Amino acid sequence: MRELTWIVDPAAGTAVVEGIAGDELAALVGDLLPPAREVNCARPLSSLPLSSGSDIAGPTLRVARLYHGSVVDGPGRRSVLQLQGCPIRCRGCYVPETHDPAGGVSLSVEEVVRGFLDPVGEPRDGMTVTGGEAFSQPAGLAALIRQLKAHGLHVVVYSGYTLEVLARRPEPEVRETLHLIDLLVDGPFVSALAVGAGEWRGSRNQRLIPHPARILVEREGWIE
Ligand code: SF4
Repeated sequence: MRELTWIVDPAAGTAVVEGIAGDELAALVGDLLPPAREVNCARPLSSLPLSSGSDIAGPTLRVARLYHGSVVDGPGRRSVLQLQGCPIRCRGCYVPETHDPAGGVSLSVEEVVRGFLDPVGEPRDGMTVTGGEAFSQPAGLAALIRQLKAHGLHVVVYSGYTLEVLARRPEPEVRETLHLIDLLVDGPFVSALAVGAGEWRGSRNQRLIPHPARILVEREGWIE
């Protein structure tokens, strides 16, 4: 029997249904609900306008989108930063507009944190950083995660690289990020494995890895 997941967000008055196409859903409950629109992790219905302000001191990030109220980018209701630039180029990637590293807008980490913490995004259960490829900007990413964790926030990061590949990266900021985050969603998007990917993932090969550095401490002798 096919499994459907319904996520009801009382704050926004929306229902997200996983595991069914829009036309099937319309046939099932079209007389009860308004027409469905397709969403997915990293593909929101709308996002906030972005423009770089004067606060450009310190580390920066190249940003594609910032949006709030997502229930498909990690556990609960989340504010999401989508970073710009991805060298992985998975076949069938559904956010190709994020690939160009020169696209998007350059924002200071301070500006991103202010956007994340905007009260318009409340209530929220945590923050998610996705891409593009988040680890293509390791210094800015680590600076951002440091600040989010200092605010006591639950942080999810998506990467098209596997944890094993990230563990071999030489940049200390990559290691720091893996130590700080609460959940890593890893691996490239594989379109042949998209059906039945389950919550928060684009394809079945992608893994949900809580506290990824703990695995590396146990498996590879990483020093905490
Ligand atoms: S890693 Fe993500 S953004 Fe990059 S090509 Fe793959 S699916 Fe697209």
